[in-house]
Formats: sequence, C-alpha cells, structure tokens
Amino acid sequence: MTLASIETGTGLQRALAQSPTDVVDVVDRSGIRGRGGAGFPTGRKWRLAADSPAPDGRRYVVCNADEGEPGTFKDRVLLADLPDLVLEGMTIAGYAIGATEGVVYLRGEYCYLRDGLVERIGARRAAGLLGNGVRPGFDFEIRLQLGSGAYVCGEETALLESLEGRRGQPRSRPPYPVTSGLHGAPTVVDNVETFAWVTAILAKGADWFSAVGTDRSTGPKLLSVSGDVARPGVYEFPLGVPIADVLAAAGGTDARAVVVGGAAGQCVPASLFGRTISFEDVSTGGAFIVIGPDRVLLDVAENIMEFFADESCGQCAPCRIGTVTILDGIRRLREGRCTPEHLERLVRLAGTMQVTSLCGLGQSSPDVFLSLLEHFPQDMRVPASPGLPAQLVPAGGGE
Ligand code: NAD
Ligand code: SF4
Repeated sequence: MTLASIETGTGLQRALAQSPTDVVDVVDRSGIRGRGGAGFPTGRKWRLAADSPAPDGRRYVVCNADEGEPGTFKDRVLLADLPDLVLEGMTIAGYAIGATEGVVYLRGEYCYLRDGLVERIGARRAAGLLGNGVRPGFDFEIRLQLGSGAYVCGEETALLESLEGRRGQPRSRPPYPVTSGLHGAPTVVDNVETFAWVTAILAKGADWFSAVGTDRSTGPKLLSVSGDVARPGVYEFPLGVPIADVLAAAGGTDARAVVVGGAAGQCVPASLFGRTISFEDVSTGGAFIVIGPDRVLLDVAENIMEFFADESCGQCAPCRIGTVTILDGIRRLREGRCTPEHLERLVRLAGTMQVTSLCGLGQSSPDVFLSLLEHFPQDMRVPASPGLPAQLVPAGGGE
C-alpha cells in the first residue's frame, strides 16, 4: 500500500512551512476528492470552510471514522495501522482552514481502537505536533468521541448532532458544514482515508498524486474487497481501474456480480466488469462485495434492505415507510406473491425515495434492489407483464 510507505512528519512539516492558503492550493491542485463515497473536491471544501465567516473565531475539523457502510473496512485498517497519517492530515486541515480543534468521531463498534488512537494523540501532543504553538500562531488539539452504533451517524450532519450531544438525526442541507457545522461554526468533515492521502500529498506533492488515476478521479483509492473471493482484504488501486482487474487480484474471476459502493451502491453484472472504479463511472467509498456464482440474489437484496429498514432513523416518511415496504416486496417476490402491479408500485416508490428522502441513507437505499431487478430479473423472480418497465421484463437472466 502506498500509504504505508509515507513517512509521517514530512507532510505537516511542509504544510507549516507554507501559508494556509498555499496548503489549500496544493490540496486543490492534487484533484483529490472525498474518499468516503460522495467524491466532493477536498480542496474546494477546505477553501469554503476557510473563507466562511467564523464570528467567534472557531472552526473545526472532524474526521468521520463512523465507517458503517456494509462491506467497508478500509478505514478500520488505516486507524489501526497508520493512525499518525490520519491525525497528521487532520492537523494539516486545521492549519489550512484556521481551526483550533479536531474531533475523531469513531464508530462505536471500533471501540477497541480507541486506546491506541488516544495514545497516539497523546504522543503527538508530547512531541509538540498538537497543542499550543504547533507553529507560532497555530494551536490545534484533537480529541476522540465514540459513536453508539447507529449507521446514520456516518451521515455528516447526524454525526454533528451526535457530537453535540443530541440524537443522531440528519439535518437539512444547506447549510453545509463548511458554513455551519459543529456548534454552528465552519467545519470540515472528511473521511479517514481522505486525511491520510492529504498527508501523503503534502509530503510528496500535488503532481505526484494527480499523476495517478484519471483526469476527474485522481490518485489511488483503497478498496475493501469481500464476499466470494479467494483473497479478501484492503487493496489499493489507481482510480480508473477496471472492475475485472480488482477481481483478478482478489481471486474472484468467476463472480456473477459485484456490489460496489457498499449497501448504498449498485450491483454491477459480469457483462459490465470492464467498467471502472472512478467518480465518473462506478464510484465507491470503498466497498467491493463480490457475488459468486452460487449466491442467491434475493438473499442479497433482502439482506441489504433489512439493513436499511433497521438503520433508518425514521425522521422522514419516504425512508421510514419505503424501506419496510420494499423489504416486504422482496419477500413477496421470493414467495411468488408479488404481482406485476405491485412491483410497478415498488419501482415507483423507489424512485420517490431517491428524490424525496432527507439524507443519503433513504435516497440510496433502493439502489441495489433496482439494479438487481434490472440486471437479474429471473433471479429476482420478476413476474412477467407487459405493463412493467422494459428493463424489468425477464429476458434471459440479464447476464
Ligand atoms: P454529498 O454529496 O451530499 O456531500 C459530500 C460532501 O461534500 C459533504 O461533506 C458535504 O458537506 C460536501 N458538499 C456537498 N455539496 C456541497 C456544497 N454545495 N457546498 C459545500 N459542501 C458541499 O454526500 P453525502 O450525503 O454527505 O454522503 C453520501 C456518501 O456517503 C455516499 O457516497 C455513501 O456511499 C457514502 N457513505 C459512506 C459510508 C462509509 O462508511 N464510508 C457510510 C455511509 C455512506
Ligand atoms: Fe432518517 Fe432515512 Fe430520512 Fe435519512 S432518509 S433522515 S435516515 S428517515
């Protein structure tokens, strides 16, 4: 993994030798986009936070370590094996946007990582890399806060609510955290992997990073490869890598499909394994779940929908009602009780959820169900009907 070869300390040292604006410029020029899944340009996010008025002078950096997307575990590996790269990236962000405090919001189930991270924070403070006078005029502290096991708290505004001591429920955006985040102050919320790559970018340069990947998806990306493969694990590939190459590396060339992007993603059939992992094609926060030839696809659909029905915070109706209704529909399909008319209603409902749910959980929860219907209608036992949308009429298994 390239990240493992990055010497800690150099990135921060080079950042502190430049002005905060220059640091934002370096991050911007590297082209790095958020590694949590959505791919918002990191440099642009930092500039917006740095330029947002902070009436009482407070700005914050939050590391979203609430890694909860099913099939995603690359952040856990970074936090366990390379925590200093992450903490250093947060410090660089703090300097760049003029923040005085950073918070690592750690997934509750990762509590076993807490002591190690707190120890590293203390060691960095003792070494003068955190605390007062990291550089003349730059004081920066990092603290750690544990989540309590709610998947929705990985959504950045629910995370902020939780950090402020309230129930973790998403807020409406805008305003985005860059203008009104933690305690209403400008806040950069970035994924664990993003901070680690920022440290590498400051250490090795924007051009080093942007030389890898594609024009619109620069740099390498960590993938959590799991499921029906011979060699599951965390892999690093240049963005733009064909799905087939990932499968070849992990020993999954007989796969029928891959669920990319985690539960909130899409199911890519074998006929499309030439497509690439990139923000312009098939994007992912890191999950790469391989579906082997013996896997029952209705099980996959049911498992994923159960997860969303369980994790929906219940705040808005499209998600609260939609997730359980689609789960019920999947069970009807399994039992041969789903009429063509009901399936049509489910597909319409899924479209409504995508556009009217308040946050990404509800918006993306029907995605895998819809892509399984589209690519594998026979496996999903789609009832034949001329009234169904063309792509849902069974036509030879979809592969
Ligand atoms: P989003 O596109 O709404 O936002 C992405 C980031 O860009 C956020 O930080 C947001 O504040 C910022 N942003 C977007 N538009 C902005 C604007 N106009 N001005 C300023 N900032 C702006 O995506 P999202 O809903 O925050 O996240 C969804 C993604 O999270 C999905 O890709 C999903 O797969 C992923 N996800 C990852 C995990 C995980 O464990 N890694 C878990 C759940 C979801
Ligand atoms: Fe809560 Fe779902 Fe609405 Fe998000 S979409 S706010 S998880 S009910």
